[in-house]
Amino acid sequence: MRSSTPQGHMAQISHHMKVIDVSERSSGLKQFLIRQSQILLAKQIDEKKRKDGRQRADPSFLREIKDTNGWDKSKLDRHCGIGRKWVRLLGEYEGLICFILPERNAFGISPNSYLDLEDENIEMFHRLLDDPHTRSLCEIAKAFQESLATSNNIEFIWEAGRYNIGALGDEELLACLRPLPSVSENIFNPPDFQDSPRPELWPQDWPWPVDPTAYHLDKWCDLCDLDDCDCINNQSNSKPRIRQYGKKGRGLQAVAQNRGLVAYRNGEIIGFLSGEVASTGAHSDEWTVEFTRPDIPGEPTVCQIYTGQRGNIFRLLNHSHRPNAEFDQIKVSGRYRTAVKALEDIGDGAEIEVSYGPGYEMLGGCLCRECSVAGEGNTDTSNVNQISREAP
Ligand SMILES: [Zn+2]
Ligand SMILES: [Zn+2]
Repeated sequence: MRSSTPQGHMAQISHHMKVIDVSERSSGLKQFLIRQSQILLAKQIDEKKRKDGRQRADPSFLREIKDTNGWDKSKLDRHCGIGRKWVRLLGEYEGLICFILPERNAFGISPNSYLDLEDENIEMFHRLLDDPHTRSLCEIAKAFQESLATSNNIEFIWEAGRYNIGALGDEELLACLRPLPSVSENIFNPPDFQDSPRPELWPQDWPWPVDPTAYHLDKWCDLCDLDDCDCINNQSNSKPRIRQYGKKGRGLQAVAQNRGLVAYRNGEIIGFLSGEVASTGAHSDEWTVEFTRPDIPGEPTVCQIYTGQRGNIFRLLNHSHRPNAEFDQIKVSGRYRTAVKALEDIGDGAEIEVSYGPGYEMLGGCLCRECSVAGEGNTDTSNVNQISREAP
């Protein structure tokens, strides 16, 4: 977050004002975005006021944001006023704005009926909301709001499909609506490996069981010369964006720092696939990637990275017979990791695709660019991506 700097505040506030301007001209989701931006606008102006130690917002700051965005005082006061009413109504139930309809509902209750509640009635309202089910729903709604308000990629569990939403019980439904827990690096849980057999070709003089991705010999990191580094957390690339690719389902789209330019240069690391470290053979579904150790003679598969329960966006990379990226096992900050590396310059907006390996076959036919052009792509996608990916 850049909110600590005045410029950061200015840019974020301008962004909220622009969203209100654009959204006022349309309806539906846009009405929701107005509401959300009014709340964020009011919060940030008030936060700045608090940081400046003022009772009232700095007039020169208000003038600057009004002039920059072409707003007059009454417009700014109106939107901030509504935003503050929302903040008061929501309290700690921030996700509630998703559940208050923009128009009068069937019982004749409009959003203003809520916003105009007296303080004591709001307290009572909050007491009525205070149960685990409503709290969970609000948390989920808050994650949804974050996915709209920020460029963060948030994956919701139901998006992976395969759920018959109508047939789920309350608890299952709530679980399925939640965001997929995101991990920034591979998670190793020692008990998972307690009884795990030593991987084939694992050197006899190396201890076992250990984290099969960890590296303790000579050079610690392929990206720097330090003995202790933070390279894994210093990936400054702009992150790819999750996108729907028609029948292929979700995939990853390259995003350049500047629109229309090259997003990733040939050879550049786009990111690292992350999930849970699992024993070889533990999983066989589409969320499984076999993990090899290139430093061990024979390059054996030593474990799996399982992204079905926890993972990051790189689990969504689609397969192609003409990939523009590849999985590459490299040492970074003391562990072997599965890097996603560009095989060519990848332009802004292009889909990032890897090959799942020579043995990979899609039931129902391949939908990659190469196969679609050749006319071999089959339209039956019911079984696409059902096979475990080959070792990189
Ligand atoms: Zn390093
Ligand atoms: Zn193909």
